[in-house]
Amino acid sequence: MPSDGAREESIPASLTRVHTAVLKSGIQPSPEFAKKGLASYSVNVGTKCGHDCTYCSTGTMLRMHPSFKEAGEKPFDLGYAIVDPSMPDRVAIDAANIRPEKRGLVQLCTTTDAWAPEAQKHDLGRKCLEAILGQPGWSVRILTKNAAVTKDFDLLAQHRDRVLVGISLTAPPRKARTMMVVEPNASTIQERVAPFKKAHKLGLRTYAMLCPLLPGVADDLESIEELVEIGMAAGAGEFFAEPVNARGRALTNTTHALRRAGYDAETPAVDKIRNKVAWSAYVVRLVANLQEVLRRHHALDKLRFLLYGKSLTANDADHIRRSRPPRTQVAKISTSTERGCGESRAPAETGDRDERDRVPELPACAVSGCSPPSGTTRCQGIAELTSRSLCGKRVSYA
Ligand code: SF4
Repeated sequence: MPSDGAREESIPASLTRVHTAVLKSGIQPSPEFAKKGLASYSVNVGTKCGHDCTYCSTGTMLRMHPSFKEAGEKPFDLGYAIVDPSMPDRVAIDAANIRPEKRGLVQLCTTTDAWAPEAQKHDLGRKCLEAILGQPGWSVRILTKNAAVTKDFDLLAQHRDRVLVGISLTAPPRKARTMMVVEPNASTIQERVAPFKKAHKLGLRTYAMLCPLLPGVADDLESIEELVEIGMAAGAGEFFAEPVNARGRALTNTTHALRRAGYDAETPAVDKIRNKVAWSAYVVRLVANLQEVLRRHHALDKLRFLLYGKSLTANDADHIRRSRPPRTQVAKISTSTERGCGESRAPAETGDRDERDRVPELPACAVSGCSPPSGTTRCQGIAELTSRSLCGKRVSYA
């Protein structure tokens, strides 16, 4: 194992099939990710990520994609990956061809992980970074569950004003064994902590993605406290959080995996939220716990909670709206369908008409306590990440 804690770049035995595909898109507009305040564009290096997380909803989102049929696989199955080794070529073309005034922030990735084992084999994370950052006007928000990203920190350090490093923290390190059941090919939670801290030490901007915090595993106060401590120590500028997506086979796959591995206490907690009322109650609890912990750390303004109102009960939606800290301007409960590590797909459902009219650009992110910014012009690139207020307006970055 490399000294930075990353797993070796070999395909794990449990990943029995690795297919290649040639995708059409390189850098794609990502309006739903923009709504979440994450990025304007996305790059994905395949259609099935080899980290093989049981709760992954990419299969649900991309189920009609022809690559599954071509590979002879079912979108909801586990144990395989579909990767596009030629993606950096298309990314390089798009990075050069998209007009300078249209360039902005790219999320790497939204439906796969550019440092998953099959992507590492082709060095896709680094090659995509080189392709994007090789052109002016672009910035990149990385999100990964793999410590292998560390090997590309030299490149990121050369562009530190244009990159953000996000690490998914899905449970505290003491729950690592549980998480290895549901995230079998990702780096362990312990392994993810080192790159997070190292990025901060190198002066890279960091953020934490606390998604998903499964019920009965990581949604309690103590677990969230541990995760926030890790994030704070790594200089996280934002804490994104999102409930697990109950759509598709994500919860069924997760409960099956936990049950098979003998996690008798955790299994019913996850199984229970397949019911709408229980899922809604889980979200309310999660919001409250995140708010409490971040408030304790005087960091409530860093919370970015991505909320999907369609699955909430009316009472719980109302409760969450009312639980906003007083200085938060709005709380829009939206409907969307999540992709893998958090991208939403469907257009946001409207909140009430008054809120919608008042803040037309509101992202699906609303449960925090930041003040609205003084400026409201659309900023470019990475500035929009650090200056975005939960009121949904964007402040220009002078
Ligand atoms: S949840 Fe993210 S890291 Fe896990 S398999 Fe899906 S895309 Fe990969």
